[in-house]
Amino acid sequence: MSGGFWSLAFLFIAVAVGFLLGRLDGRRRQRRRLLNLSRNYAQGLDFLLGEQHDRAIETFVRNLEINEHTYETHLALGRMFRKRGELDRATSLHQNLLDSPRLPDEFKEDVQLELARDFLAAGVLDRAETIFQDMVDGESRHAEAAMRHLMAIFEAEKDWHSAMAVGEKLLLRDHSVASTLAHYCCELAERLDYHTEANAARRLLRRALSFDEGCVRASLLQGRLELARGNPDTALRAFKRIRGQDPEFFDEVLDDLEECYRQLGREEELVNFLLECCGEHPSTPLVLKLSARLRERVGEEEAAELVTRYMQHHPTVRGLREMVELSMRRNQDTDHEQLGILRRLSDRLLAGEIQYQCHRCGFEARSLHWQCPGCKGWGTIRRNPEEGTPA
Ligand SMILES: [Zn+2]
Repeated sequence: MSGGFWSLAFLFIAVAVGFLLGRLDGRRRQRRRLLNLSRNYAQGLDFLLGEQHDRAIETFVRNLEINEHTYETHLALGRMFRKRGELDRATSLHQNLLDSPRLPDEFKEDVQLELARDFLAAGVLDRAETIFQDMVDGESRHAEAAMRHLMAIFEAEKDWHSAMAVGEKLLLRDHSVASTLAHYCCELAERLDYHTEANAARRLLRRALSFDEGCVRASLLQGRLELARGNPDTALRAFKRIRGQDPEFFDEVLDDLEECYRQLGREEELVNFLLECCGEHPSTPLVLKLSARLRERVGEEEAAELVTRYMQHHPTVRGLREMVELSMRRNQDTDHEQLGILRRLSDRLLAGEIQYQCHRCGFEARSLHWQCPGCKGWGTIRRNPEEGTPA
């Protein structure tokens, strides 16, 4: 290789190095800052390796500049603080970010959302509510998330009118919220006096069904309202509607249904209707209700036959309890020592029975909740299939 080539190469390298040094020299202040930063990172790394995580994080947070490249890291740190329950740190990190003149405007809405979530997690609902409301009013790009949070806040406060107002705005963007709005109407209707405010309650329940025609709760409340108002015919129609809406909830109104037929003086029709229901969607409560009616109107034999037939396909403790009871009634002259043991055992099992369960989060309850206390889902709690409906 010629000496000329190497000369040119050395010249090129010298120029490049000079250029770079010049640039660096021209940015001496920036370099000093970078050096400081690396020193601080090294210190942070030392803390991290020495398992002093809190000091490491503190060092990183203190020295991390706020700009468009680092703001995601700030947000991630804030979320981590919140997750660890360090809500003061999360709040101050997000507040500092918001106050910083270096935070580009386009990122402010992200930080606002995180700050409001910090207040929410800390239970400072009024502060969270103010920020979420500002985001909705300002048509932030997170307005939808803000609306969902606002609905959750108003639900927790049982402020159903405010929850409804926000929910109706959200409905324009997401139709799946309609079933929740139906529950809000039911909540409002339930708070009314069925004797002095019956028409207002009727309007709310009709509105619930206009949001969600499958709203079982609205039909159930309509039925109970009309029953209370002495309109068993209208009540019966509302209760029967539940079979089409969601047959799994039909067991909830068996006593109401019986009362309707009783008030109408058509009790004989009840047995036929229950038989028809058993054919379509059998369940233990349905079979037990039918068994009680058969026992009263036809006889113990028919009732026992029905329960035995059902138990052959869907054995449940409650069904067993009924079988034992019927057997003891039909053989009153014989010794019931063994059957008595079975009955006591069934009673003990039933005493600890979890009748309802949330299909979303698994929350267990002994009575029906329309909103799950665990995951806050609406209409997610149902009768436990082991006892209520056939598997
Ligand atoms: Zn749940």
